[in-house]
Amino acid sequence: MIEKICEIIDNEYSCDIDITVEEWKELLNNPNVFDDKSKEALKKWYIEPGHSATCSDIGKKYNEHSMSANGVINGLAGRVQKELGRFEVKGIGNIAPGTRFIVVMKSKMIGAKSKKWIWTIREELVQAIEELKIFQEDSYTDEELIMNIEESCISSSTPPFEYMGVSKKKRQPVSILNKLLYPRSHKVSKNALRHANYMCEIDNNHPTFTRRNSELNYTEPHHLIPMSYQGDFNVSLDVEENIVSLCCNCHKQIHLGQGFEIMLKKMYGERKDLLTKVGIHISLNDLIILYKKEKV
Ligand SMILES: [Zn+2]
Ligand SMILES: [Zn+2]
Repeated sequence: MIEKICEIIDNEYSCDIDITVEEWKELLNNPNVFDDKSKEALKKWYIEPGHSATCSDIGKKYNEHSMSANGVINGLAGRVQKELGRFEVKGIGNIAPGTRFIVVMKSKMIGAKSKKWIWTIREELVQAIEELKIFQEDSYTDEELIMNIEESCISSSTPPFEYMGVSKKKRQPVSILNKLLYPRSHKVSKNALRHANYMCEIDNNHPTFTRRNSELNYTEPHHLIPMSYQGDFNVSLDVEENIVSLCCNCHKQIHLGQGFEIMLKKMYGERKDLLTKVGIHISLNDLIILYKKEKV
């Protein structure tokens, strides 16, 4: 076993980690190395500018102890090292001999006085994540969802989508900026837009425009029962049956404008039976109350 020395040179952790993109891809696909918990922790860095952040910033953002993500990354790095079985990192000088995170991250000191260490995901790992599209399945807000659907080109050759009529298990929320946010799958929203044939479901004649990256009409997915109320339901709200395709004008109106009750009445009338089939039970009155109660 090779010992790789990790030391601080010019306020930066220095260690010759030579894991290739291909190796990272294999490791990412191995659930014994990258379990859900470590992917979740890694994603916290991945979504930051430059894939960089200090542990304390991550801790603050997610309302966790600053060492919590740190511990998960260290554990992950240990499993990576073990799985590869060709080297072991050894810290010298001020660095603890058992230091492992450096296998996954680079680390540099910022702010001479406060001595904060900013961690950056290794470039080869970032590339592997991008190539495998590891973190592109979900969005956590409506805005993100719309943006990400735009980025992931919709193809006209996608087969038509038919409702499955089966309820799905709800997923766990993620805490971001002290708010619990539920994941929304891109695939499910794309299915829903496809089902509506990329037209506004309030009125098929509402004008839209053609997407820049495909031949299809631009419409936006909207969760009829908003994802922010997922906690009140036993089954997933992120199902095609609960997602309507709206032109941008109607989408803004249903969130922000007057007359949303009329829009809800029409959508609800068309979806009521479909929603019941997938285990989502709500009356029109209660739905209207949800929209009045909180910013949707
Ligand atoms: Zn919406
Ligand atoms: Zn419309």
